[in-house]
Amino acid sequence: MCSPSMALHLQTKYPISPITDNIPRNQRPTSLLPIRVACSVTNTNNFHPNREKIVVEKRLVNPPLSNDPTLQSTCTHRLWVAAGCTTVFASFTKSIIGGIGSHAWLKPALAGYAGYVLADLGSGIYHWAIDNYGDESTPLVGTQIEAAQGHHKWPWTITRRQFANNSHALARGITFTVLPIVLAFNDPVVHGFVSTFAFCILFCQQCHAWAHGTKSKLPRLVVALQDMGLLLSQRQHVNHHRGSLKSYCIVSGAWNKVLDESKFFEALENALYLKLGMRPRSWSDPNSDWTEETDISYNHA
Ligand SMILES: [Zn+2]
Ligand SMILES: [Zn+2]
Repeated sequence: MCSPSMALHLQTKYPISPITDNIPRNQRPTSLLPIRVACSVTNTNNFHPNREKIVVEKRLVNPPLSNDPTLQSTCTHRLWVAAGCTTVFASFTKSIIGGIGSHAWLKPALAGYAGYVLADLGSGIYHWAIDNYGDESTPLVGTQIEAAQGHHKWPWTITRRQFANNSHALARGITFTVLPIVLAFNDPVVHGFVSTFAFCILFCQQCHAWAHGTKSKLPRLVVALQDMGLLLSQRQHVNHHRGSLKSYCIVSGAWNKVLDESKFFEALENALYLKLGMRPRSWSDPNSDWTEETDISYNHA
């Protein structure tokens, strides 16, 4: 039996389908429209109309055009990429100089190979995290989370995004994490690992963009490396955009098979939900917009 003080609390937060869904894609208006409406209604014995509130948030309802400013690189983007590359190069130089000084090449080279292999795993874990948790208001990574959600709605737009625009956020993270390591350590093995790992992470969004590109328009070397399984291929990555979320790794994609088959991320999601009540977006089918038309658009890019 309800006590007088017990409140019935209702909250709904459903995205409303844009009316432009009924208009052919090439005839839709290109403007941004405020579209997500979150309603929170509190119904208590002491109900007061002022407690009702409606929040309207701006959401992208149309894909950006190829010349959209949000896809262009800015000076700041280029500076961060330059800083990231410089930091990685400094770490790589320390590995080479240390290797020459100690006449020991094998260990730094093996450490570099380990960095390449584990960078693919690291890219998958990071990609999984921003695809499934947080939103645009999340500190530090909010814009990446928003961009990742836009990417699932319109996968081909990544091929229109300029290089520094696509990679600057990772370059900034690399700069802040690798620079202290460069300053603190001289071990060639440490730098063999760090420089290769950081290099792969810095360029993983570019590998991702190439995996969305049309083969005939990609550099031959990139296609050759994709065919050899050394860079993420479209054949592998399309699994990420079809059906339920999986195959998150975007450097070489070498970890995707083992992580998908072992249901590693599903186990992690279940553990986080049971321990912390955090519900991943993958349970809400973020690829629900996928249709054969989307598939063509994916290859069309
Ligand atoms: Zn994704
Ligand atoms: Zn993708």
